[in-house]
Amino acid sequence: MKRKKLLNLGCALFLLLTACAHQNVTVSVKAAAETEPVGSRGDAADDPAIIIHPKDPAKSVIVGTNKNYIDGGLNVYSLDGKKIDGVIDPNINNVDVRPDFPFSDGPGLLIAGSRRQDSTIALYTYNWDTQKLKKVEAAPLKTIEAYGLCMGYNPKDATFYVYVNDKNGRIEQWEITPAPNGLAKGELVRLLTVPTQPEGCVVDDETGHIFVGEEMRGIWKFGAWPGGDLRGMLIDTVMKKGGPLTADVEGLSLYKKANGAGYLVASSQGSNTYALYDRQAPHAFVGTFSVVDGEFIDGTSETDGLDVTSVALGEKYPQGIVVVQDGHNKTRRTTQNFKIISWEDIQKGL
Ligand code: CA
Ligand code: CA
Ligand code: CA
Ligand code: CA
Repeated sequence: MKRKKLLNLGCALFLLLTACAHQNVTVSVKAAAETEPVGSRGDAADDPAIIIHPKDPAKSVIVGTNKNYIDGGLNVYSLDGKKIDGVIDPNINNVDVRPDFPFSDGPGLLIAGSRRQDSTIALYTYNWDTQKLKKVEAAPLKTIEAYGLCMGYNPKDATFYVYVNDKNGRIEQWEITPAPNGLAKGELVRLLTVPTQPEGCVVDDETGHIFVGEEMRGIWKFGAWPGGDLRGMLIDTVMKKGGPLTADVEGLSLYKKANGAGYLVASSQGSNTYALYDRQAPHAFVGTFSVVDGEFIDGTSETDGLDVTSVALGEKYPQGIVVVQDGHNKTRRTTQNFKIISWEDIQKGL
């Protein structure tokens, strides 16, 4: 009798624990690679974007920002973290990329950055053969204030957009079109707003939505294309006790699988973790992961920007990667960098 009671108690406890664990799936992973540290001290590395190689995904690269206002710029890294190219273009905060922009001299990559120094949108391309970045702005694209930034591509009418936000909650949407001599120009087409300072954002090109992180509040969702609903929907907030978001909400990206499946990934800077939501509405919370110290590569904390892809990038990354900025590279002993995590390691724990 006594033994049976104990057994029941044990089962109840077990059920309680598994129920709790299920509500807060937290996966601890180790980085598989890291980039060379940026050349500037302090809070300098900010946001990465993964650029998929069109023929050999294992040769894909990462473009990362160094937001230092004197010697910052954009750097390109291989998947094993080696710096391939870099340009000095101070104070670029966020970066994003879309392929196949119809430049006058042939289709190419369009890379956009938020240049805080003069509140303009930086436009670049990257040539796979020469492995060089090239600036392609036909004229300065002057915004209210260029803080956070992301890009979108509407496949229905082949339009390219850059979304750039300021610290007062305004999000400008610019349409980018080709200009003569292999350059690009832009035109302001729409304005969205959130109540307070946003930064991280990501566009789901397939569903036509933009997700915007309001740093102190949560994650908003809007229609991404001109003519879409200007009213946003808050899909999660930092106010939920025991919830996955702790201010600031920072980088956002999408792990995209076929038929609209996948995850929305958010950097929860205040808890040094990353929250995963269902890519499909109503964007249910799925779990969190954290990047812990490995044998050779340290874990990540206070992450600003991140990017993720589900494309298999060679044998090492069969389910794609997540790239995250690390606020304290080797606990402050060296300048900041970006860490590369195999998605396979995260998926195993979900
Ligand atoms: Ca930071
Ligand atoms: Ca970004
Ligand atoms: Ca921020
Ligand atoms: Ca670290």
